[in-house]
Amino acid sequence: MSRPPLSPAEINELIAGLNRLARNLWWTWNQDSQELFQELSPRGWQNLYHNAVAVLQEVSEYELRVRLQDQDFARRVREVLQAFNTYLNAENTWGKEHAPALLAHPVAYFTAEFGFHETLPIAAGGLGILSGDHAKSASDLGLGFVGVSLFYREGYFQQAINQENWQTEYYRILNPKLLPVEPVLDGKGAPLVCAVDVALGQVYFQAWRANVGRCPVYLLDSNRPENEQHYRDLTLRVYGGDSTTRIMQEILLGMGGVRFLRALGIRPSIFHMNEGHTAFLTLELVREKLAEGKSFQEALDATRSQCVFTTHTPVEAGHDRFTPDLINYALNKAPAELKLSFHDFMALGRVNPANESEAFCMTVLGLKASRAANAVSELHGQVSRKMWHHLYPGKPVDEVPIGHITNGVHLLGWMKGPLRRFWKRKLGPQWEANVNSPEFWERMADPDLVSDEELWALRYELRRELVEFARRRLVLQGERVTPADFITFDQLLNVDALTIGFARRFATYKRATLIFQDFNRVAQLVSDRQRPVQFIFAGKAHPRDDEGKRYIQRIIHLSKYSELKGHLVFIENYDVHVARQMISGCDVWLNTPRRPFEASGTSGQKVTCHGGVNLSVLDGWWREGYDGTNGFAIGKDSHPDSFEEQDRRDCESLYKVLREDVVPRFFDRDAQGIPRRWVAMIRRAMVTLAPRFNTWRMVQEYARKYYFAD
Ligand SMILES: *Cc1c(COP(=O)(O)O)cnc(C)c1O
Repeated sequence: MSRPPLSPAEINELIAGLNRLARNLWWTWNQDSQELFQELSPRGWQNLYHNAVAVLQEVSEYELRVRLQDQDFARRVREVLQAFNTYLNAENTWGKEHAPALLAHPVAYFTAEFGFHETLPIAAGGLGILSGDHAKSASDLGLGFVGVSLFYREGYFQQAINQENWQTEYYRILNPKLLPVEPVLDGKGAPLVCAVDVALGQVYFQAWRANVGRCPVYLLDSNRPENEQHYRDLTLRVYGGDSTTRIMQEILLGMGGVRFLRALGIRPSIFHMNEGHTAFLTLELVREKLAEGKSFQEALDATRSQCVFTTHTPVEAGHDRFTPDLINYALNKAPAELKLSFHDFMALGRVNPANESEAFCMTVLGLKASRAANAVSELHGQVSRKMWHHLYPGKPVDEVPIGHITNGVHLLGWMKGPLRRFWKRKLGPQWEANVNSPEFWERMADPDLVSDEELWALRYELRRELVEFARRRLVLQGERVTPADFITFDQLLNVDALTIGFARRFATYKRATLIFQDFNRVAQLVSDRQRPVQFIFAGKAHPRDDEGKRYIQRIIHLSKYSELKGHLVFIENYDVHVARQMISGCDVWLNTPRRPFEASGTSGQKVTCHGGVNLSVLDGWWREGYDGTNGFAIGKDSHPDSFEEQDRRDCESLYKVLREDVVPRFFDRDAQGIPRRWVAMIRRAMVTLAPRFNTWRMVQEYARKYYFAD
């Protein structure tokens, strides 16, 4: 019996709903929504890089109306829209229960980059991904939260590799109309425009709102006709240009961001500065309070009571510093506005205010103007207290007021399709509700629910997806590939091999090439036909980092011309999409930072729920996560001062662990062909790591320690 066709009004409602859904990034962590958009245009979904807004524009209104006459499709659209509405309007949220005051006066989270999804490539690396995951969990928790960052019209660079295996950079213009963002309008329907003082002039800006579930994120954009071209281009690229561009971007982000929130009538109770780039926001807050008649000291104290600061950089040179000349130029009007002499103004960013040659450090401003500060792992906390103890004269290093909250990841946003289907089959449609809880992962340990055989089958499914993804990408990366070559590419990599992944920014302290230091030993590893091992690498070097580019060149060279050919590949243009393939498909996630420079690291936290295990230096989060049973450690919980010595020791340890522990365990199969001890380790990793190293826990910790008024 066929049902009557949907009425035009019903269809209109579904179309409006789909358009609302596409413009809320919630769909990026909701599998059913993604499947709907993919079904609407499978090719478009792939070519438009999983962009729901662009897919909806690709499909004509007529086609959409026809498709919605498919009763089954219409039913699924209705169900997704219902789930979306339920999410948006949920009454019993953690935030409502624990932080009702923040709903009226939210946390304003400022950051220079937000990494939400591959369609919006405005993040350079881990800092941006962390910001995106923070916002998603703030939404899941129902916390009063708004984000502020910049809309980079050319985003972060795209990586290509030239004939010399050298990284080159190019940029793609982003069209906001085809992205999951919406213009912020004033009462008359025109873009809401604000201005901020920069040098001797003003920079005008508007904003795009990304809806992250329940939370708005405002991305400021200086590409306004009121501005001269060089100011229109201020927000062109993530960390673009020279230090003049940088300081102006940071003025726009910090001071402009506060002004924009005011123009929207938002009165945050807390301003969270994510890294020093955002610290100028404190100057705008001081200025506001001076205008209310407070003295400078009162204004600074009141500002401090509203601000918290997170530092991410254990490398001294990684902290933004601006010369007095540049400050004088870019912030020309600021000292007078704050009723300060230039000397006193500079003092806000100096460790030693009397030192006239000291540069203005954004981290110093952030620390001086906040009521609480934190690092992003326990070890990073120790390093940061030592690094900044001069700022707190008379205090022993241990009492320097910089705590720590270890980073996490937004689990649902990272979980790949097969994994989600696996859990749905096991636990039913409501499985997502508890995905961050220890109880959920405890069930992994229950072989009655999930057998070794099933877990191993899941590993195979995920590993095959990665290998096939890599083969597709390698065809695209190849030069002058003919159809006949496809067969050759399909022989690259081996679905049965122990697959070791390394993907992250090619900052040199991460030592991407450490494993190749003793080439013969790696060659030995991959040449064992009984126990095949293979490596997949990806990552971008900073455009001005030639050393990092040399690392990439070396790896690609090895992948093409050495005995490692076929067992080592480099996937170009690392981004969130490549990351998702790699963290889900790899058996082992390799991380070899030079201690203690990995403040936290988060990519290794994404592998755990997919049944991957970490093989990492005991730095950042892994130093806290590793317990001897849930993965592998390189080296010890200590390090020598000499870099050479550290490289040598870590290299020794790495080969030893691989040869004696990782490889034998992976290939130790029983009569049924199952590597029982390996699967046991996967279970241990899931139970001990997934419920801890996620942003659901992390954001709650921020709320309890730093967001609640004390
Ligand atoms: C998770 C992630 C990072 C951070 O990786 P680390 O290992 O912490 O450096 C960087 N870039 C992308 C695209 C990611 O998904």
